[in-house]
Amino acid sequence: MSSFIIGMLWLLLFVGGGIYLAYHRVGLVTSTVASGVALFAYTNWGDGSFLWLALLWLLWGGVAALNLIEMRREKITRPALDIYRKMLPSMSDTEREALEAGNVWWDGELFSGMPDWNRLMSYPAPVLSDEEQAFMDGPCEELCRMLDEWDIAHERGDMPPDVWAFIKKHRFFAMIIPKEYGGLEFSAYANAMVIAKLASRSTTASSTVGVPNSLGPAELLLHYGTEEQKQRYLPGLASGDEIPCFALTSPQAGSDAAAIIDSGIVCKGTWEGKEIVGIRLNWEKRYITLAPIATVLGLAFKLYDPDHLIGDKDDYGITAALVPTDMPGVTIGRRHNPLSVPFQNGPTSGKDVFVPLDYIIGGQEMAGKGWKMLVELLSVGRAITLPSSGAGGGQAAAYAAGAYTRIRKQFNVPVAAFDGVGEALARIAGHTYIMNAAVSVTSGAIDQGEKPAVPSAILKYHCTELGRKVGQDAMDVHGGKAIMMGPNNYLGRSYMAAPIAITVEGANILTRSLIIFGQGAMRCHPFVLRELHAAQDPDEDRGLAEFDDALFSHVGYAISNLARSFFLALTHAKMSAVPLNTPTRRYYQNINRYSAAFALASDFAMLTLGGKLKIKELLSARLGDVLSSIYLASTVLKHFENQGRRASDLPLVEWSVRTLMYNAQEQLHSFLRNFPNRPVAFFLRLFIFPRGRTYSSPSDELARKVVDVITHTGEGRERLSEQAYTAIEPGNPLGLLQEALALSEELAPLEAKLRQARKEGLITADFLGHQIEQAETAEVISADEASALREYHVKVEHLLAVDDFAPDQIGRGGSVTEHTPSDDAPAAPPKKKAASRKKAAAKKKASKTKTARRERKVASATDK
Ligand SMILES: Cc1cc2nc3c(=O)[nH]c(=O)nc-3n(C[C@H](O)[C@H](O)[C@H](O)COP(=O)(O)OP(=O)(O)OC[C@H]3O[C@@H](n4cnc5c(N)ncnc54)[C@H](O)[C@@H]3O)c2cc1C
Repeated sequence: MSSFIIGMLWLLLFVGGGIYLAYHRVGLVTSTVASGVALFAYTNWGDGSFLWLALLWLLWGGVAALNLIEMRREKITRPALDIYRKMLPSMSDTEREALEAGNVWWDGELFSGMPDWNRLMSYPAPVLSDEEQAFMDGPCEELCRMLDEWDIAHERGDMPPDVWAFIKKHRFFAMIIPKEYGGLEFSAYANAMVIAKLASRSTTASSTVGVPNSLGPAELLLHYGTEEQKQRYLPGLASGDEIPCFALTSPQAGSDAAAIIDSGIVCKGTWEGKEIVGIRLNWEKRYITLAPIATVLGLAFKLYDPDHLIGDKDDYGITAALVPTDMPGVTIGRRHNPLSVPFQNGPTSGKDVFVPLDYIIGGQEMAGKGWKMLVELLSVGRAITLPSSGAGGGQAAAYAAGAYTRIRKQFNVPVAAFDGVGEALARIAGHTYIMNAAVSVTSGAIDQGEKPAVPSAILKYHCTELGRKVGQDAMDVHGGKAIMMGPNNYLGRSYMAAPIAITVEGANILTRSLIIFGQGAMRCHPFVLRELHAAQDPDEDRGLAEFDDALFSHVGYAISNLARSFFLALTHAKMSAVPLNTPTRRYYQNINRYSAAFALASDFAMLTLGGKLKIKELLSARLGDVLSSIYLASTVLKHFENQGRRASDLPLVEWSVRTLMYNAQEQLHSFLRNFPNRPVAFFLRLFIFPRGRTYSSPSDELARKVVDVITHTGEGRERLSEQAYTAIEPGNPLGLLQEALALSEELAPLEAKLRQARKEGLITADFLGHQIEQAETAEVISADEASALREYHVKVEHLLAVDDFAPDQIGRGGSVTEHTPSDDAPAAPPKKKAASRKKAAAKKKASKTKTARRERKVASATDK
């Protein structure tokens, strides 16, 4: 063997061995021993020169010395700790509390660069209990049947009294309240499924039901309330006798909610005839959901104690209290109009409202703990209400668009057959699958005891953004049908509502730019928070020991991620270990690769930019996108397994993961392109993209397969829209579209006969009604077949119809119908004057006549 080959073999042993040790995260002691053995062998049997060997042994000696912990701490760690302390970015209490909220779950695995898939795979698939399933099939289905979004949003500006009464009677507001207080005590998964179903039918209803089951008085009381407070409020909240709201946002403080100026001054005052120490509250809040009809207000304010009546502090900080809205000084009742989606939302103010100290949630000892309470609860709540609304809206849009684009023909073919429309349909289906997976897997994890703060922010941002995208695509493929508002428009209202979900519970730009990566980097990184805590430890020796351990583990982790990122990119992750040997195994491997690349990029970003990364929002947003993409892709894979690995879902899974992983690649690339330290960016690119950007977005062929899933009846289409309200009944467009889609498939052979007859010249008419007639006369189809075709086309014409109005019917008030408010009505709609009532009745009659005329026209046209 030539000395060159022998030299290469030695090189391979050292480099390959080094990569192997780093890739598998072998500890320092074992690595020192292994490299020592290799060096010993090389010294004895290799052909290295004396100088070269001396250099290698010196290097090895340096590594070996790191095992002498006492010396390492003094010589390396202590100076490093001093520098670190000087570099530490300043952090406010509110920031710290936000950072420490919730716990770390699968997000931590992804941040590690070496995810342990068994951790994710070991979680059971979430299922509804019998009771929860009965609720979904019973009251939830029934409520959907009662909801008429046009009537609610256009005619009344509120849900009708019978709907309010039904919601309260069946305890829709009490899904999170334990049974002992009269609630339903549903799992997070069931809560999410109920909201998704309602969202598929009415944005107003899903928002109204979502809020009390998310962050609000009930949730705050359950976690922090005293037993007395729980007993006082929870039964009423469960029965709907108490209507809650939570008021944090004020005109000055929106995203920067901790900057509220609403105040509570500890002072003496008279309460039930006695002088007590209490709080004088003054507030001005806006945008508060349910505030106009609330009976109890969860109020966030800053607590001050200038006379030191409860302690020696002047300023306690943000505090949360429960304030009954019938107290003197409290103002509620006025309403905002959130994009014409009339869930109850409005401002509230309070002037010198005096309440006892025990109105503070959790009592006096929770004074100043309001912010911590809020961010803790948000770490779970953010993963449920808004994401499941997005998923429910997506399910409805996918179900509708899939059927509509099959029954709507242009150029004599269903519009779904055009690739341009198909591209949008594939996005509708794929994005809906991603939302379904994210909601199901994350709420399932919450039910297993996780409080995943970072995934919650990921879900909040991405499910509302994907919901908006799906809404937009669904509008586009429906053309003018979705533009004309009226009872026949089943998309316009939820499209209009999309920005609401984007804005609430942490506006999306802020969530993406500041929270996902900002919180993730500190919380999910295996060592950053440990280092931070160690550096702040008042016990110097303990802090040094802890910092030393964290620092050296951190260095090992960074080296490992360098090796993993490089090796996985070079080999397209083909040798990476995955939990399953299924058609999806390559996707697991690609997530492994991007997890390592992401961990590497994050570390170098933090190392080189330090505290400045916080204000470099474009960089941290892109890293957040990478984390989000690999998180969402993992939930897609897990959801596929949870649902029994159904073959018909495979195109959806592949499209979703490909889209997400392509996005991860592109965002990582943009991050490196814009990274200010160019040498570091160059170095990182070598390790992350040694073969360039090799990942492709979904192919056209794959997109066509996805389109097939939602444009044909079958289990794939049904499963994708599993929670949507799809009962086939008058007034439910989703059910009627499904009926028409099924008929179109059934009658496809007859339509084919018609087309053939046209080609052969047996049929000459352009108009379909005439074609059917001619085909029947020419005995191309039988009389029964002709009648089936006619019936189908009448249904289609109805589904394609849009509304029109007399000029004076456009605008509010023209067509409000009479309703009888029940005792349960929270706010009766304003009574109309007799003259106006007559006018409305006349218009209604005219409108009915017009509809009847249109129906006759359609029928006679198809009869001809
Ligand atoms: C329909 C609706 C219902 C609501 N319900 C409630 C409720 O029940 N209770 C309650 O207390 N509040 C409620 N809110 C308030 C909601 O939480 C706030 O609207 C939200 O926090 C944003 O505040 P803002 O609207 O003042 O926007 P601003 O804070 O003025 O933000 C404007 C824009 O700047 C961005 N931005 C701000 N700071 C940053 C930053 N540092 N980095 C990047 N981008 C940033 C935001 O993302 C946003 O895009 C509701 C709002 C709406 C619209």
